[in-house]
Amino acid sequence: MKAVVLEQKGKITVRDIALDGALGPEDVRIKPHAVGICGSDVHYYREGRIGNFVVNSPMVLGHEASGIIIETGSKVRGLAVGDRVCMEPGIPDYRSIETLQGMYNLDPAVRFWATPPIHGCLCESVIHPANLTFKLPDNVSFHEGALAEPIAIGVYSAKKAAIRPGDTALVFGAGTIGIVSALAAASAGCSTVYVADVKKPKLDFINKHYADKLTVIDLTKTDPLSVLTDAGLRGVDIVFEASGAAKVYEKICDYLVPGGRMVLIGMPSAPVPFDVVAMQAKELSIETIFRYVNVFPRVINMIASGKLNVKPLITKEYTFNDAVAAFEYAATLPESDVKIMINCP
Ligand code: ZN
Repeated sequence: MKAVVLEQKGKITVRDIALDGALGPEDVRIKPHAVGICGSDVHYYREGRIGNFVVNSPMVLGHEASGIIIETGSKVRGLAVGDRVCMEPGIPDYRSIETLQGMYNLDPAVRFWATPPIHGCLCESVIHPANLTFKLPDNVSFHEGALAEPIAIGVYSAKKAAIRPGDTALVFGAGTIGIVSALAAASAGCSTVYVADVKKPKLDFINKHYADKLTVIDLTKTDPLSVLTDAGLRGVDIVFEASGAAKVYEKICDYLVPGGRMVLIGMPSAPVPFDVVAMQAKELSIETIFRYVNVFPRVINMIASGKLNVKPLITKEYTFNDAVAAFEYAATLPESDVKIMINCP
């Protein structure tokens, strides 16, 4: 079948590839309809690796996807041929300790689409477990369905933050993950959500589409502390760190009220120093996340209910046959762009 294949670092082709696999009784076969390009796809394209995951052989790209079911296994209930769905891309070992403990995202044996050596879903059809395939309500588009994957990180962050009505939040990083985390926090009950970044076009994007929900802080001009002080706040209840920038950690405790919590989402490229005493003096707590667990149905509900308007996030679309151009564009993404979507034939 035809697929978008990362042949090696720096080289993508759209070509025929033999993908094996038989449909199991609890699987569905899906024809992908829309697939978003993720930062991780671009990273594998440019660097050939992320940490210990190295592209040593050709790999089909893509893991943020929606599609149509074209075949169901004999034991599948609740899903049928023709259903519009989105897919959670990490398949755990259902007997692992982590899975049994409800942390299937942390199962070392998880097979995650487009993470070497596992093929992704930018191809003509994929086989996937029915229990990781979620039906889209009629008012949720294929594009919104494909966005469910990155949004899942934001919704999981909001869940981990244990948001209480009226909490205030400060999000560092205005990339896709920063924006969806901020939107999830606002929808989950935060009264004020600040988003801080150094990239003006990203902040302009937020001002254009989400000024009713989010307040931007331009880090090249202001310090978040002075913004909080001007707003009469001693600090925020929650900091979401979605930039991965080591510099944020220098003053991260200062932004929080006593008893506040931080959710660490961004991945710094190297270990960062951390002020333990500053944390203790305020009894701050830290939550971390790795991808997400048990949130896809919540994400779909939030989109369907209108609580999460994510349509503006897609700033450019490509056809499947133009996937090489799509990845080239994503690899040098202008700061004014957010999510690049590939429409499958
Ligand atoms: Zn992704």
